[in-house]
Amino acid sequence: METRYIFVTGGVVSSLGKGIISSSLARLLLARGFSVTIQKFDPYINVDPGTLNPYEHGECYVTEDGYEADLDLGHYERFTDIRTSRASNVTTGRIYQSVINKERRGDYLGKTVQVVPHITDAIKNAVKHLGASEKYDFVITEIGGTVGDIESLPFLEAVRQLRWELGGRCVCVHLTYVPYIRAAKELKTKPTQHSVKQLQQVGIQPDVLVLRTEMEIPEGMLRKVAQFCNVSENAVVQSVDAPSIYEVPLLMHDQKLDNIILEKTGTPYSGEPDLTAWNQYLSLLHEAKDEVKIALVGKYVELQDAYKSIDEALLQAATYNGHKAHICYVSAERLHDGNVDELLSGMDGVIVAPGFGQRGTEGKYSALKWCREHDVPTFGICLGMQSMVVEFARNVLGMDAANSAEMDPDTPYNVIDLMEEQKTITYMGGTMRLGSYDCHLQSGTKVAEAYGCSDIKERHRHRYEFNEKFRAQFEAAGMKCVGENPETHLVEVVEIPSLKWYVGTQYHPEYSSTVLHPHPLFMSFIRAAIENKK
Ligand code: GLN
Repeated sequence: METRYIFVTGGVVSSLGKGIISSSLARLLLARGFSVTIQKFDPYINVDPGTLNPYEHGECYVTEDGYEADLDLGHYERFTDIRTSRASNVTTGRIYQSVINKERRGDYLGKTVQVVPHITDAIKNAVKHLGASEKYDFVITEIGGTVGDIESLPFLEAVRQLRWELGGRCVCVHLTYVPYIRAAKELKTKPTQHSVKQLQQVGIQPDVLVLRTEMEIPEGMLRKVAQFCNVSENAVVQSVDAPSIYEVPLLMHDQKLDNIILEKTGTPYSGEPDLTAWNQYLSLLHEAKDEVKIALVGKYVELQDAYKSIDEALLQAATYNGHKAHICYVSAERLHDGNVDELLSGMDGVIVAPGFGQRGTEGKYSALKWCREHDVPTFGICLGMQSMVVEFARNVLGMDAANSAEMDPDTPYNVIDLMEEQKTITYMGGTMRLGSYDCHLQSGTKVAEAYGCSDIKERHRHRYEFNEKFRAQFEAAGMKCVGENPETHLVEVVEIPSLKWYVGTQYHPEYSSTVLHPHPLFMSFIRAAIENKK
């Protein structure tokens, strides 16, 4: 089948959940047996989101091929089990960088290089590249930002041209907001009409409208929107706030969004999507009554999306273990030996979060000392794992000044350090170990048991490593290095086998946990936490 293209744009305000709608659509098409891929365009000038502070954009997600991506790619993977890549997230910065590099090489043969056609062509190529060789039946492209933003214009122009070139194989789904004015007790469609008008002004007529709303929108109002916006009546659907984002595919299917897309792209189909496994997950989610209480110790705890993938991985694992995940965010900066007992007792398990920089690390050590001494199931991820190593060195091995070289470059006990070959490279981002690496697990360990196998692949995002020099001392005192990279022998997993569940991973298992395939380590951690509760 010739590849079909779906563009998802947004209007009125940001944060309406274009990523969730795009992911839900992908889920529905996959459930009908189509092959799908999904990508996001971000209109900002950063070449990738890797250098963005979580305060700006929430969590930085990492793809298997080592691209630091927008967190929407996490939604894509969790909803669809599709493995995203560098090609799934393109920013204005990256587009400009490629065009400017070509200009410097002289590839444009002296021509004036312009937004139209050079930038827009580069954007179009990023879309068509995914559809090449007809590997996918559908390419879903989410355009970040809001219609009307100056910086979104080149992307919208590229969409306009593509619609022209691709004809009936292309649809535009526009997501808008219908606010409820409490004082007047009324829903208002005017912002939607304006936002569609703005889209029309740049030459794009949306085929489908998805109206985000807090309150059910009456039939008549949907019809009115259809009439005002030149959209067929059945193609105006609503997306009412749902208790879980994972309900959205079902809500969309109830209004036949998948059928509408298939019809509008001239795609033959029959029957219904197979959502059996998805529905099973939702039933478990609804039926779960008992709570499992997990503390997440990190420095961005006041930020909704800073630990998105960890939150979701915990939720999935708790659900499959018949529990509700109750995540208590504990600020690492506020934690110290004096209040740790008060803040962590009553927790069934503790996660120590990834991160960069000194801020909050001492609090993480206090938390970990307490967890180790109280034998509470504990999971350290990346900086969390490195903190486990530092805490153990200080309090068990008696190396008072032990630290990561990231926090104290001069410590004689650099139990976490840069590898020799990294020390000469200083260019920002250049020294990071990013993306998927092999890891071999020792048999008979908690991690090997959790995975049910000994050779795994997991995603990384860090600069510093466990310092091999100290390995024997750690092992002799009870902290075992149970997972390592088969080629470089870098330590990837530590575990204290004498405790109930005390595991640190240098990699990020949370990135690969999905709704239909919860991550085995999170499953094992949650089981230990539930056991601990008893
Ligand atoms: N800051 C640490 C490093 O660079 C850990 C990074 C992380 O937790 N993602 O190695």
